[in-house]
Amino acid sequence: MNRTHDVIVVGSGPAGACAAWRLAKAGVSVAVLEKAALPRYKTCGGGLVGRVMQMLPLDVRHVVEQDCHTAQLNFLPSRLSFRTHRPTPIVSMTMRSRFDFAILSAAQEAGVAVHERYAVEHVSFHDDFVTVVTNRGAMQARFVVAADGALSTVARKMRLADERTLIPALEYEVTVPHDRLDGFHGTARFDFGLPSQGYAWAFPKKHHLSIGVLSMAQRESDLKQSMRRYLDLLGCGSVTQIERHGFVIPIRPQRGPFIENRILLVGDAAGFADPVTGEGISFAIRSGLMAAQALIDGKLYEESVRNAYTGSVTEAILPDLRTGRVLARLLYNFPRTRSWTFSQLGQRLCEAVTDVMAGKRQYRDLRLKPRTLLQLLSPKWLRSSAHRSARPRHDRV
Ligand SMILES: Cc1cc2nc3c(=O)[nH]c(=O)nc-3n(C[C@H](O)[C@H](O)[C@H](O)COP(=O)(O)OP(=O)(O)OC[C@H]3O[C@@H](n4cnc5c(N)ncnc54)[C@H](O)[C@@H]3O)c2cc1C
Repeated sequence: MNRTHDVIVVGSGPAGACAAWRLAKAGVSVAVLEKAALPRYKTCGGGLVGRVMQMLPLDVRHVVEQDCHTAQLNFLPSRLSFRTHRPTPIVSMTMRSRFDFAILSAAQEAGVAVHERYAVEHVSFHDDFVTVVTNRGAMQARFVVAADGALSTVARKMRLADERTLIPALEYEVTVPHDRLDGFHGTARFDFGLPSQGYAWAFPKKHHLSIGVLSMAQRESDLKQSMRRYLDLLGCGSVTQIERHGFVIPIRPQRGPFIENRILLVGDAAGFADPVTGEGISFAIRSGLMAAQALIDGKLYEESVRNAYTGSVTEAILPDLRTGRVLARLLYNFPRTRSWTFSQLGQRLCEAVTDVMAGKRQYRDLRLKPRTLLQLLSPKWLRSSAHRSARPRHDRV
């Protein structure tokens, strides 16, 4: 087999499906190669934050199982709790099998050829096309969009110096009695400090809870133990029906280039997840759409596409990830700074991160000036501020 397309998209997650949809809408001939049988389960909380809904050019309301207008942020070591409420959903809960398939189906309707159970094993580069070798034979295209996720085969075959930081995360699909499920209704819950360098979450779905935990420490040895403690804390320790899943999240991007030899890296393959929260769907969609737009605007000429995609990533994605990494270091690597931040600024932090997730602000708008950071990281300043500290304005959990 040796089929030819303008563009081959590898992977049918949000990055790949959105890229394929936009390309097909512009009349470009596109094939999506997906190694799994569709629709497929994806290890993920399935939480769509407000900025996802804003940037998604398709209506996916039919796959939303529950809208959460309230976010609860707990800091377990100090038993502090903060809540914020918004008129528009802060997080819309989905199962990724249905969400991803909804976008892919729209792409298929727009003319995309979808090949499931096609696992890409190798890519080779030629002057004006790329050969993609799969478990079912080879295909050729003028360009390839690598949307094959955090363990991207295509990125590995490109032999880039992979500077992504992959952190471990667990996701359990937990069935609880309906009266217990009702207690979680409408609230996206986040618990910091369990594990010590990470956080846990409980997302209510239609008939069950998606409960997860991640650690920013790359070698977290006891994530399962943290999960057991979290299930107990939520009162779910004794439930019997639990599906257990684990995967990784890239919270630091590739060094770049993000396009090389006619291959464009998008989503987790590029390392575009949010460094503070691990939320990756919004940057996956944004980068997928940007890659497609670069191919369309560049009229499939290599140099023009390279300049367009590099420009968009540099301008619209990398600065926010950079500032997010600074904030993440403060939150996860410096326990005393973090305790102080939660006790003094917990509500503001809760509002600020909610604004970022809602797409109302970006991390770079939070004005993390070098002087402020130095002050925050200074133990001397921390000690004196502890003496000065006013009475806390928050709830205890
Ligand atoms: C436990 C956990 C919880 C998370 N919770 C959230 C959350 O609530 N909200 C959020 O926004 N983000 C969350 N994320 C992050 C989010 O899941 C990812 O950032 C997002 O899925 C990235 O999308 P993508 O399209 O780049 O890749 P993916 O969604 O990973 O899609 C990649 C696709 O490529 C396919 N593929 C892989 N290799 C090949 C190959 N060789 N050939 C063909 N196909 C291939 C895969 O089967 C898959 O379908 C979570 C991640 C984890 C691990």
